[in-house]
Formats: sequence, C-alpha cells, structure tokens
Amino acid sequence: MTSVLSDRINQMEESATLAMAKKARELKAQGIDIISLSLGEPDFKTPKHIQEAAKASIDEGKYFAYPPVAGYQDLREAIAKKLREENKIADAKAENIVVSTGAKHSIANVFMCMINEGDEVVIFSPYWVSYAEIIKLAGGIPVTIEGSLENNFKATAKQLEEAITDKTKAIIYSSPCNPTGSVFSKEELEAIAEVVKKKENLFVIADEIYELINFTGKHASIASFPGMFERTITVNGFSKGYAMTGWRVGYICAPLFIAKACEKMQGQFTSGGTGIAQRAALAAISGDQTASKEMEKAYLNRRDLVLKLIQEIPGFKTHVPEGAFYFFPDITYFFGKSANGFTINNADDFCIYLLEKANVSLVTGEAFGAPNCVRISYAASEEELVEAMKRIKEACANLK
Ligand code: PMP
Ligand code: GLU
Repeated sequence: MTSVLSDRINQMEESATLAMAKKARELKAQGIDIISLSLGEPDFKTPKHIQEAAKASIDEGKYFAYPPVAGYQDLREAIAKKLREENKIADAKAENIVVSTGAKHSIANVFMCMINEGDEVVIFSPYWVSYAEIIKLAGGIPVTIEGSLENNFKATAKQLEEAITDKTKAIIYSSPCNPTGSVFSKEELEAIAEVVKKKENLFVIADEIYELINFTGKHASIASFPGMFERTITVNGFSKGYAMTGWRVGYICAPLFIAKACEKMQGQFTSGGTGIAQRAALAAISGDQTASKEMEKAYLNRRDLVLKLIQEIPGFKTHVPEGAFYFFPDITYFFGKSANGFTINNADDFCIYLLEKANVSLVTGEAFGAPNCVRISYAASEEELVEAMKRIKEACANLK
C-alpha cells in the first residue's frame, strides 16, 4: 500500500527525549512511581519578575496582535546588546537577530535556509537528538565526528579538518553540550575556527542554549573571534537559563543575509513568536540575573551529588560534566548481563530495564550518536536524585 504520509515524515526519527518523557508521563498517570530523569527541562519555576512582566504585558493590552516576524525591536536590541557586552560579539546588531518559537525552531530555520540536497553538515558527536533529523529534513547529510570519554567527549579541530569535504556547508556543536555537559574552552574553539576559516563558505552553528549553566565560569562564543562573525550563526534561547521551556522563545544572531532568510522562512511557517512570551523574554534578558545564578549554583550542587552517587555504582564510567544538567555515563559493562530473564544487549535495553525494574527513566545514548552511553538529566530535586540513583544501583546489582 502506498503511504498517505510523506517520505519526509516516514523517514524521520521521533525525538527520543520527548518520547521517553511521554512514556514516563503515561506510566505516572497509571499510578506508577516513576522518577523521570529523561527530559532536559529545568524543574525550577520561571523567576517571578519574568512572570510579572508577562502579566503586565497582558494588562497593557498592546501585545495581542501579530508581532513582527523577526521579533519585537526592543527585544532584538536587548539581545544584540547582551551579545556585544557579555559574549564579546562586537558586530551583533538588532538586524542580525531573529527571535523564534524556541531554539529548536531557530535551528530548523537555519538549516532550511542554508542546506541544499546533498550538502554535508559536520555534527560534533555525541550531539543533541534533533540536529541530525532537521538536517536530513532539509535534504542535508549529517556527518559525525566523535568525541571520546577520555577527551570529555569533545571532538577536535583535527577531526573536523579530516571530515571536511567539498560538500561541507556547516558544522554544529553545543557548548555546554547536551548530552555530555562538556564545555569547549576558548582555545579549543579557536582551533576549530582556524579550520573553518580555511574553507570558503563554511559556516558554524554554535548552539549556546546552556550558556547560563556553566560551572567553569568561562563561556566562549566562536562568533566573537576574528573573522568569525560573518561565518557564525549563534543559537540561544530562554528555556534553560531562565527555566522558560514552555514559553517557547529562542533566537539566532547571524550575518544579515542569513537573518533575512530566516525571517522569510519564519514568515511562511509560523510568523513572529508569541507576543506575551517575547515580553517575558525581554524581562529575562534585561532584568536581574540573580535567579539564573542561583539555579546554576543548584545545578552545580546536584552535579556533585550525582557524581558521588554514580561513582558508587560498579560498571558506570563517567567524566565530570562542566555545564548543562546531564551525566552521560558509558554503561557497556552491563552488555551481555541478565536479570530475571531480561538480557541487556545495548543502551536501549538498559533504559527499558531501568524503567521497568527501577522505575527510573533515562534516555539511551543511541539517540545522541553514542550507543554505549545513557543520558541522566539531573534537573530534578535532590530527594528525587538520591532515590533514583539508589534504585538504579539496586537494579544494576541484580544484573549478572
Ligand atoms: N539545543 C539544545 C542543545 C537543547 O538541549 C535544546 C533543548 N530543548 C534546544 C536546542 C532547544 O531548546 P528550545 O527549543 O526549548 O529553546
Ligand atoms: N532539549 C531537551 C532534551 O534534550 C528537551 C527535549 C527536546 O526538546 O528534545 O531533553
């Protein structure tokens, strides 16, 4: 039978992070006591002053109509100012900014605007689940370069150089990284920039959405390096650093012709992002940053707590993440082991086993290009984290 649905959608993988979160939600609704460490979503509430700004904007009554496609001018100006002052991206102006319905949407705009059939995009692996699927949707070919556990999962400039072909159009990485929590240093990014600059028309998509959850105290934006502004699309948003996942506001800072292309694309797909959410985003970016700093501190405490607990589980191998809110342990030790007739052959099996036997949901590393690992999100309360790690430890001890 011919499919009613397009090849495009039939060939697309479902988002593994969202799929696992949905499964955990369904089991919870059945009354099962699931601890969900699968979704990368802050458990904090959006800070009060941001909520208040959104409420005030409703009362003002000025933000109910279609917003400008690329975002309200004052928000674009505030973003550009932040990028100039904090990220040292000296050339960032309001005209370079396009505000979208979340950073995921920003990334989709960029790939839809830049990729032709057969263009290659180098992805630093392990990588966030949606990159490869969006690239394929746009007709591109994802090419991965792999970081290793020994190198904190960071692929290198040398690997990038070897992966570049005539067809390479762009590279994409996240730093701090989802799923590994690794942070690229300024020096590492400088080496990457040097490789990029050797090839005409090669662009960098720098996903900096975890910028505000960085325990090194140092965040480097590749767009700030000499000669890189014209080659970089900086992606950022409000979901993580301001606990605003549901408000759906993200943005890019890009060379003008790319920003204009994304505005055109967005004008045909979604129009401007929700007005009230943009007013909240303006309050977030231009207001008091204390709440974000406090959340960052809480994540650091949890990182240390979970690190200690992971180290007590025989068979888990982990590096020490420096940002975001994920651990990405290698769990190959358990491959071939069984409990109650259930054998673990891969990371998918391991996640199913933990979901069923420990009632803890994680995400398989398969979805992030690393089939020997699992992702643990520690954006959860300390009580939940302690209980979850206890359950995981017990379930793993049964595997023989
Ligand atoms: N990039 C990375 C690395 C992410 O983890 C996420 C998670 N949501 C996004 C982009 C998209 O963020 P959002 O659409 O919520 O702004
Ligand atoms: N980025 C988060 C994650 O990796 C949220 C889910 C998603 O958008 O994929 O879990």
